[in-house]
Amino acid sequence: MPHPELRKLPSVDRLLQQSAVAAARAQFSHDLAVAVARDLLDGTRAAIIDQGQPCPAPDELAQTLLARLHAAVQPTLQPVINASGVIIHTNLGRAPLSQEAQAAMLLAGEGYSNLEYDLAAGRRGSRYLHAVDLLRRLTGAEDALVVNNNAGAVLLCLMALAHGRQVVISRGQMVEIGGGFRIPDVLLASGALLVEVGATNRTHLADYQAAIGPQTAALLRVHSSNFRQIGFTAEVSLAELVALGRQHGLPVIDDLGSGALLDTARFGLAHEPHIQESVQAGAALVTFSGDKLLGGPQAGLIVGRAAEIARLRQHPLTRALRVDKTTLAALAATLGHYLAGQAEQQIPIWRMIAAREEALADRAAGWAARLTAAGLAARVQPAASTVGGGALPGETLPTCLLALPGLPADRMAARLRTGRPAVVARIVDDALCFDPRTVLPEQEDLLLAAILAAHRGLAEPGQ
Ligand SMILES: *Cc1c(COP(=O)(O)O)cnc(C)c1O
Repeated sequence: MPHPELRKLPSVDRLLQQSAVAAARAQFSHDLAVAVARDLLDGTRAAIIDQGQPCPAPDELAQTLLARLHAAVQPTLQPVINASGVIIHTNLGRAPLSQEAQAAMLLAGEGYSNLEYDLAAGRRGSRYLHAVDLLRRLTGAEDALVVNNNAGAVLLCLMALAHGRQVVISRGQMVEIGGGFRIPDVLLASGALLVEVGATNRTHLADYQAAIGPQTAALLRVHSSNFRQIGFTAEVSLAELVALGRQHGLPVIDDLGSGALLDTARFGLAHEPHIQESVQAGAALVTFSGDKLLGGPQAGLIVGRAAEIARLRQHPLTRALRVDKTTLAALAATLGHYLAGQAEQQIPIWRMIAAREEALADRAAGWAARLTAAGLAARVQPAASTVGGGALPGETLPTCLLALPGLPADRMAARLRTGRPAVVARIVDDALCFDPRTVLPEQEDLLLAAILAAHRGLAEPGQ
């Protein structure tokens, strides 16, 4: 004897013919509509049988189906307002791009380009040439190569220069960068043999010297970008490593990770190694990310000596790490800001780093005034922002936060994260806080509207 509620369950066809569904059908393919409707009916049937639930009304089923169809075609990647105060937030996509970089990506994406075509000669060209002149000019290096990301850049350098041979590295530099990038694992994957020297806290030139033998292919230095060693420590300088390498005919690979073209010390931060410094010190290859302190798109940048770059370019792995045309377009535009002396004005992460505390306090006070006028308790409090992105660990920039005291911070934060646009804030002393440093000026109205909407939502029944 079938369950009486089951008899009320419509067929897939009947459900799709419901007027609300039929009206929206043109937005979805037939296959998608059928698959989602079938899932919904299967789930409803199971709830009736297993949990004794009543069959929902036809209208309710139609509305659920529509909501699921809209959710199915919604991109999962969506904009987020970063009010966390972490400037290069890897989980939130690292560096936002400059206006020119965005425009360049659009231009490269909407039509054809001379990506691999030499227009003057009328024959095949190389995608790897597009950013080379810019990178040479900016870093002083002989040559440059752009790949998909910095992890790939390090892997390529090791594979091309040291596969089946030894690479010497200090124990203090066997680091893990976020997202599962561990130097020992990358070495293993490259087929290079790891020779660790020194102690975790101290490595001396003599340690490297003793490890060099006929099987040595390169010396590797890794910038310990996301942590800091203090106390009884010693590291060998890049210049010393290069001099040692020269004596033995060995190249030095320098993984800077973030690497900067501007001096972070100008903004009250510690000095983050400059790419130019590594080139000048004589590293054969210097690797760094496009989307950390450079402030551009995700990419792995390699600059260095012509002979070594030529070996990389010929390596088959380069093809597998090939960089996309829209990335190259955004990268060239970003590098152009540095050449024009406009990086601090045009590149969002440098604008954020350079933002002065008084200006941030004004913005936070302006937000507080608008929210207070709308009936929400808000205040301004001093705090610190961080650079993030595995650069300048422990270093902070003074800022002023907008704080919302007296609200359930966890619930409010959850509502903001799941709103559109999503907002990521932080909780300080039980108060939900918003750091103006990482909120783009054009997002301010959206942010305040999202806060007010989330606050209203808290009061709704069932919330
Ligand atoms: C961030 C970082 C990497 C990895 O760079 P991605 O661009 O994330 O691939 C490698 N080495 C160091 C030292 C880093 O800081």
